[in-house]
Amino acid sequence: MAIARKKKTRLADYGLQTERLLWPTKGPNAKGPGVFEQELGDLESRLGLTTLEKAVAWAQSKSMWPDTFGLACCAIEMMAIVSSRYDIARFGMEAFRSSPRQADLLIVSGRVAHKMAAPLRQIYDQMLEPKWVIAMGACASSAGMFNNYAVLQGVDKIVAVDIYVPGCPPRPEALMEGIVRLHEKVQAGVPPAYELRGVAS
Ligand code: SF4
Repeated sequence: MAIARKKKTRLADYGLQTERLLWPTKGPNAKGPGVFEQELGDLESRLGLTTLEKAVAWAQSKSMWPDTFGLACCAIEMMAIVSSRYDIARFGMEAFRSSPRQADLLIVSGRVAHKMAAPLRQIYDQMLEPKWVIAMGACASSAGMFNNYAVLQGVDKIVAVDIYVPGCPPRPEALMEGIVRLHEKVQAGVPPAYELRGVAS
């Protein structure tokens, strides 16, 4: 008969011990564990322990509000992520609107004409920090096939981009993948791109 192994849930099981827990538990000088240690172990097994930084990063990644900046064909794919099929509300992102108010994620989808560069940068500057940027599609990332004087050759010329989503157009699944990767970066403690690389003023 298989014997179920007891799951390690107490800090003491992982080697984190108080002075009292270091007392010998076997032999003639055995002193513990006492009732206090047992109660402490039970308490630890019921609590989730973390750091303030990790808790803040978790909250930020679970309540990221997008400011959508749809500029061309990619925007049609971006719009689909609010539908029931993709359901971006699962990530706490149902406030999906074209406004920098309370937004902390700018999704740039489509080619950025030079004419739109200034308004885009203004929207970015109006967003409060911390803030992140996703360049959705080949055009937003590098101008794609539009290697000409009318189109900005990549939105990272004017804002700091955290995630590039490849494709022409990327499907909504690809954008969702980019969003999940961004959440992972935030939870891992990676600073926003503007802190790492800065942006042109
Ligand atoms: S990447 Fe393709 S689909 Fe997206 S805006 Fe450019 S041309 Fe359109």
